[in-house]
Amino acid sequence: MSEFSRGIRGAVVRPEDAEYESARRVYNADIDRRPLLIVQCAGAADVVHCVNYARENKLLIAVRGGGHSAPGFGTCDGGLVIDLSRMKNVRVDPERRTAEVEGGCTWGDVDRATHPFGLATPGGIISTTGVGGLTTGGGFGYLSRRYGLACDNLISADIVTADGQIRTANADRNADLFWAIRGGGGNFGIAVSLEFRLHPVTQLYAGPILYPLEQAAGVLRLFRDFMRDAPREVNAFFAFLIVPPGPPFPESLHGKTVCAIMCACTGDVGKAEIVTKPLREFGPPLLALPHPMPYPFLQSLFDGLLPPGLHHYWKADFMRELTDEAIAEHVKFGPRIPTVNSAVHTYAMDGAVQDVGANETAFAYRDVRFVHIIAAVTPDPATLPLYRDWTQQYWAALHPYSAGGAYVNFLMEEGEQRIASSYLGNRERLAAIKAKYDPLNIFRVNQNIQPAK
Ligand SMILES: Cc1cc2nc3c(=O)[nH]c(=O)nc-3n(C[C@H](O)[C@H](O)[C@H](O)COP(=O)(O)OP(=O)(O)OC[C@H]3O[C@@H](n4cnc5c(N)ncnc54)[C@H](O)[C@@H]3O)c2cc1C
Repeated sequence: MSEFSRGIRGAVVRPEDAEYESARRVYNADIDRRPLLIVQCAGAADVVHCVNYARENKLLIAVRGGGHSAPGFGTCDGGLVIDLSRMKNVRVDPERRTAEVEGGCTWGDVDRATHPFGLATPGGIISTTGVGGLTTGGGFGYLSRRYGLACDNLISADIVTADGQIRTANADRNADLFWAIRGGGGNFGIAVSLEFRLHPVTQLYAGPILYPLEQAAGVLRLFRDFMRDAPREVNAFFAFLIVPPGPPFPESLHGKTVCAIMCACTGDVGKAEIVTKPLREFGPPLLALPHPMPYPFLQSLFDGLLPPGLHHYWKADFMRELTDEAIAEHVKFGPRIPTVNSAVHTYAMDGAVQDVGANETAFAYRDVRFVHIIAAVTPDPATLPLYRDWTQQYWAALHPYSAGGAYVNFLMEEGEQRIASSYLGNRERLAAIKAKYDPLNIFRVNQNIQPAK
């Protein structure tokens, strides 16, 4: 055992080890990289040890939380993967309504821990996504119109910075670092622990409403206009989808391409039923499935459609408005969604997300109403190039109507300019904070912000 391995409480996996093949894999099967070392950390001390070792030996570092990054930032070629996925403790304080979450937790870990207390915090819409990557990039989900982004609910975080120190970042301590990790991604260090504000959430009135494809333009306009006045309790996204071949969908719809509005409402169920009536009556729909369900159940509703090991290619943008011209492009490209696992989603991003100013956190796009993602997802790698073309053409047709930048957590490796356009006026401050905490840019396997010179 090497001196390095002796200092590790978790596991060290090398290319010659039997577990290497599974340990090197990330969620997107299209990513095929071979790290020199994978350290499955047992705690913060392991993370510190890894950062020091990598810095001293000039090894590239990749940090893995949930491993969901589509460009595969949870792994690298020839470097050291700091895998946090064993660090899964969650401690809920029901009186203070807070949760302390270890850096390797997924949203499923958090939701299941807070639910018995009748509490929750905004996370993503798939339970297997990592808390660390999602939160540091911003993070939105079903609770965001009411309670803001995941990063808006972050109270404090313990960060292992490039010098191997553990720094607490919150409003009072290292406030610049705290500002940067709320939207700036993994550029500033590794969050070994994150403390979140919780809210009283137990069950939601939620589920998809399916409409025939021929009504797509009308449904998109309905979605746009409905969300403008919808109370914050209502969250919804528009989708093109191929109906999965199984319950709760009737056989007559299996494999059919349709459009949908997925809604999820907090608060009183009776009120939610009344408020969402225009959605359930438009058309009429093919199927309206909203019903009351526990929050962790909603959070894992689509997990089965998106298991690890599929091949992904994504394109995305923020939209200030969903214009009739953009809707016309959606109607042209959306119906060609290639597989049952693919996703064409337009999420509403207003409400509480807009209560925070553009410069209050690193997450700059606080004035957009929508964010869309076009995600081609397939089990068959041979088909991905074709589907990638569809994704790029669809995105290019919509881009002229976009706000210019994209949500960093939805970007592939798209170059410096694209990252810059995602941070608007916050970019220079991010570069200055990067220069302070990571002058050598050792955390660069991410949507990278170069340190200011
Ligand atoms: C199926 C699926 C559904 C998704 N749904 C949503 C959604 O509803 N809402 C949403 O906002 N996003 C969503 N995303 C996007 C998601 O936010 C990003 O993919 C995010 O990067 C995932 O974080 P992770 O920890 O799982 O990823 P990883 O691949 O482990 O890491 C991604 C990046 O985050 C950094 N990172 C990870 N953990 C830490 C940490 N503890 N400290 C510092 N840096 C860290 C890594 O260095 C890397 O650069 C989804 C992604 C997928 C694949």
